[in-house]
Parts: sequence; C-alpha cells; structure tokens
Amino acid sequence: VASIGAGPRSLSFAEARRAILDAVTPLATEVVPLSDARGRALRESVRAEHPLPPFTNSSMDGFAVRADDLAVARVERPIELPVVDVIPAGRLSRRVLERAEAARIMTGAPIPEGADAVVPFEECERSSFGTLERVRFTRPVARGANVRDAGADLSIGDEALTAGREISPHDIALLAALGRHRIPVGARPRVAILSTGDELLRVDEPLREGAIRDSNVPMLEALLDECGCRVSRAERVSDDPSEVARRLHAAFEAADAVLTIGGVSAGDFDPVKQSLGDLGNAELWRVAMKPGRPQAFGVVDGKLFHGLPGNPASVACVFEALTRPALRKLQGFMALDRPRLDVRAAVAIESREGRTDFVRVTLARRDGAWWAHPAGEPISGHLTPQSRAHALLVVPEALAVVPAGDSAEALLLRWPEDMPG
Ligand code: AMP
Ligand code: MG
Repeated sequence: VASIGAGPRSLSFAEARRAILDAVTPLATEVVPLSDARGRALRESVRAEHPLPPFTNSSMDGFAVRADDLAVARVERPIELPVVDVIPAGRLSRRVLERAEAARIMTGAPIPEGADAVVPFEECERSSFGTLERVRFTRPVARGANVRDAGADLSIGDEALTAGREISPHDIALLAALGRHRIPVGARPRVAILSTGDELLRVDEPLREGAIRDSNVPMLEALLDECGCRVSRAERVSDDPSEVARRLHAAFEAADAVLTIGGVSAGDFDPVKQSLGDLGNAELWRVAMKPGRPQAFGVVDGKLFHGLPGNPASVACVFEALTRPALRKLQGFMALDRPRLDVRAAVAIESREGRTDFVRVTLARRDGAWWAHPAGEPISGHLTPQSRAHALLVVPEALAVVPAGDSAEALLLRWPEDMPG
C-alpha cells in the first residue's frame, strides 16, 4: 500500500466547502410518478398549461345571482327571485341566468353565464310554492362575492414551481391539479459507507472488552435517507490497510459517492489515510473546523469520496457542514443546507480565531428570540449532546468567542419538542 507522501493539506472551512461543492456535478434527471416525488429535487420548472382554477366557480353552497338585482334588497323590503336551475359540482349549466333569476349552486360548480355573485344558503330565506322554489334576499351582495375566478390561483404560463425546489406534499397537490403525473427529479445518489475500526461491533453484538458498537453507520444511513440518498452498501472493515484499500475500490463500483468513517487522523493504524495513495485523486485534509478536523476528500472515477473522521460528533457535524450540501447539490437541490436560524448565545461560546466551530445547542424561545445553550460538553466522542441538540451554532472563523447575548447563525436540525403548540 502506497502511503501519501506530502502529508495532509490544511484548508479553511470555506476552502474545504468550496472544493467539495466545486467537485459536484448534478446527477442525471429521472422521471418519477407523482406519488414518489415528495422530498425529491424538482429538475425543471413547472408552468401552468391551463388556468387554476380552470373555470370560474362558486366557493359556497348558495344561490347564483346577478348582484344588480339585489342592489335595493333590505330586511324590511326583501327581494324574492324564482329559482330556475340547480347546478351541482361537476355539471355545466347551459342556461343563461337572466335578470331577476336565481340558481341553486353548489361549492365548486361552474358559475352560470349571466351570474356574477353567490349568496350562501344561510343568508337567504327559502320558500316554495308547489314545485316552484323561490328565494328571498334581505340585503345586497357585492359583485364577485363567493366567486372564484378562473386563473385567480394561476394563469396560463405562470410558474408554479421553480427548478431546484424540494417537492413538498403541498407541491404535490399543485402538481396534481395541473395534471402533472410524471415528475422530472434528480436521481437519488447511491452512497456507499465504509466504517473502519477493529474496535467496532454491530448493534446486535454484545459488548466485549475494548470494543464499542458502531453508531456512525446507523446514523449515516438515517441521514442519507433523510437527504434523498440511497445507501448502496454499508460495511464495517478492520483496520488492516490492505483490506480497507480492497473494500474501498469495491465500494466505488455501484455508488455515486463513497463515505468512509474513521482512519484519517494521526494514529498509527489509520487505514484510510494509508489507502489514499492507491485511490488516485484523493488527499488527506486538515480542515480548520471543530469538530471534524481530519478528513479526506477526492473525486475518484468521477465519484465523490469523502473520508469522515471517526468520532460521532465529528461525523455528524462534517456531514451537516460539508457532505450533506454536496449530496444535495448532486440531486440538483437549490437549498443545500438545513434551515438557518438567527439565535442568541445564552452563555459565552468559546472558539478560536481562524477556526469555524459547530456547537451542538438546544434552543429555547424567550423574549422574542431563540436562545442557544450548549447541549453538553464539546467532546466529540459523546453521543448525548448530539441527540439532545436542536441545532448547530456556527462560530465563524473570524470570531474567538460568541459573547453571551450576541447573535449567531445556527443550522436547524429539528424543532424543539417542548415548544407550546
Ligand atoms: P479514528 O479516527 O478511526 O481514530 O476514530 C476516532 C474515534 O471515533 C475513536 O474513538 C473510534 O473508536 C471512534 N469511532 C470510529 N468509528 C466509529 C463508528 N463507526 N462508530 C462509533 N465510533 C467510532
Ligand atoms: Mg479508527
């Protein structure tokens, strides 16, 4: 196994992020049925090919009228009109509503020609004389009342959704209304995970002396699924460099991106570090960020390779700050990061100038602001702070500390569960 001659390359966080994002070319577009489109990256903007709503219709169950006919209606001098038609939803009335006529109309039914307003049932008095129904109005109605105009929601040619958008359940409603059932989306990246370490056990293995259970692979599988990727393989491998090199090569075969865990730091048995020479276009990095300084990155046979550190907090932070944005760009998403939230530091948060820190924080709403409190000691081997955290507070390179009370930006991981509903 060749070792890498020149030692790790030092980068600022911004340089690392730029290098990674610049290396990403979005994958091909694929067409999926509407029912599979949620959460995917829309790859072509969608325009309305017909107006929405497609025809002018009633927003209430009531009587379609000509507003002019009711101009002088008063409680003491009601206006009574004959009901000349009944229009259920789904049926087009062929009868033009003449002056001094009313038509029963249901919600969603097309407004008949001649009518320009709808008076809800509950606002009129109905009377019938034999088969002839009549209706009495005690006040005027505004022209256009309870009428939904064709095209008021979207006109022909209007942009309904912009390329790069993450398709939401509500976007699916809009696409359905527009008759789009085959949706162009970014292909799901196939991601292979290779987890290194002689000390690692599967989750279902009993603990033995000196060993811990692998927590990073299950976390990454969940994070990858959440951001639109498919895990093509997830393997554990010993710290034997030749074994790692062999598995690493295999991992690239059926993947668009390969992530390794561990084995990139300064230890004697860091096998990913030792396999990089073999890989070709990949190098060891020291990124000025905390946690997550030791990393490896490369583009191998046109596929992304990101060597993540081993500590769980480092994996989580590097994934949020660098890997996830790359995997989102691969799919064609416009928004690469988690939602950014302005927060205020509840206590002073120490960092170091020249380094970008990602601090696991809990959030609480007080006095109109989000207050960020460290979710635990900044120890990258600890799992509970990550589980407890609502967000990662970002301390930019230029700051040595965020003083208590100062504002900062945070990447929102999840909404605080104790928020009053
Ligand atoms: P390394 O960079 O390989 O030296 O790993 C750094 C630390 O992270 C060590 O304490 C490892 O035991 C731990 N670690 C590495 N990989 C994993 C993993 N998949 N799950 C949990 N801990 C890990
Ligand atoms: Mg290791």
